[in-house]
Amino acid sequence: MKNAIAIHSLSYSYGNFSVLSAISFKVEQGIFFTVIGPNGSGKSTLMKILAGILKFKKGKISIAGKNLKKYSGRELARHVAYVPQTISAEFPFTVEEFVLLGRSPHQGMLGINSEEDHLIADQAMDFTDTGTLSQKKIDRISGGERQRVFIARAVCQQPEIMLLDEPASSLDLAHQVKLMDLLERLKNETGITIIMVSHDINLAAMYSDAMILIKNGSVIKQGTAAEVIKPSILEDIFGCPFFVDTNPAGNSPRISPIPAKFKLNRRAPHAS
Ligand code: ADP
Ligand code: MG
Repeated sequence: MKNAIAIHSLSYSYGNFSVLSAISFKVEQGIFFTVIGPNGSGKSTLMKILAGILKFKKGKISIAGKNLKKYSGRELARHVAYVPQTISAEFPFTVEEFVLLGRSPHQGMLGINSEEDHLIADQAMDFTDTGTLSQKKIDRISGGERQRVFIARAVCQQPEIMLLDEPASSLDLAHQVKLMDLLERLKNETGITIIMVSHDINLAAMYSDAMILIKNGSVIKQGTAAEVIKPSILEDIFGCPFFVDTNPAGNSPRISPIPAKFKLNRRAPHAS
């Protein structure tokens, strides 16, 4: 299996404040990969580095077999699409115009949309169920709709790798599962590699082929959901006790934090 991304000993600091410390991991091509970890552990910073937004000094990153530092911005955008955690509505565009921006890395300097570009944008909007919004202004749609529109733009970019930072966080339960189903379908139908940050461990577990757990800028554990989602690992990282059982919808591990009032109950079986 080829690697979509290989990261070797990557460190990153904001000024003197160290956020990532010698991180190394690989993501195989065509898989659904998730990054989990507590708030402030460096997940968004990692995604911004992979998207080419933050420039790193220490370590090495290869994307599709080529050193990230050797890519121009436009070339990187033909390989990697990025859906940020914080989605701003401050764009003077209709949904259709915004989705079409995904074509710009593929176009000449004048950025003229061809018939094919329009076709690809229409397909991206169909795929994300945003076609009915196409003539609406970006600032006149709901947060959940805007999240889907950003994903439509990323799909329209036709990347090999899609980076998504907490894409389901502002969605209700039905839309969360719909979005995750959509990403899974994209992976299965186009062979794209999905790299997603999530703080919803159960949602990540249901869809991930592989995951990493990071804390304080270090990789604590990497593997399948069943290998990573264990009370012995997570209690230490998150600093609270968990039950882990099997999700009835499939075979993925399911985690439940234990409220203080039930802590004694958990000990009871071991005590007898
Ligand atoms: P996560 O996405 O895992 O919550 P982030 O990568 O956003 O974590 O942030 C990691 C750490 O870096 C946090 O302590 C955060 O406060 C800090 N940080 C994030 N962005 C900046 C920035 N632009 N300047 C300085 N510190 C930052
Ligand atoms: Mg974040």
